[in-house]
Amino acid sequence: MNNRIYPCEFCDTEQEQVEQRVTLTMQRNGRWYIFENVPAKVCPNCGHRYYDGPTLLRLEQMIRDNSDDLRPVEAWAFSLPT
Ligand SMILES: [Zn+2]
Repeated sequence: MNNRIYPCEFCDTEQEQVEQRVTLTMQRNGRWYIFENVPAKVCPNCGHRYYDGPTLLRLEQMIRDNSDDLRPVEAWAFSLPT
């Protein structure tokens, strides 16, 4: 690991992104998936989260494999009468 600071793409802060574990939701095939404890780098200024490629690939793989670790959640949509 190096200590290079990557500036945030969404704001001009020069503060270093902070490594955190976050909850990430992804929608695939009409279902929402919630991943907990996903490693991410979070901009301390605007809160934007950055995920690395291998992490995202692993999440996609888990969805494909329908791993027992997944808890698919039904999403409900309500539309109000006009
Ligand atoms: Zn930012």
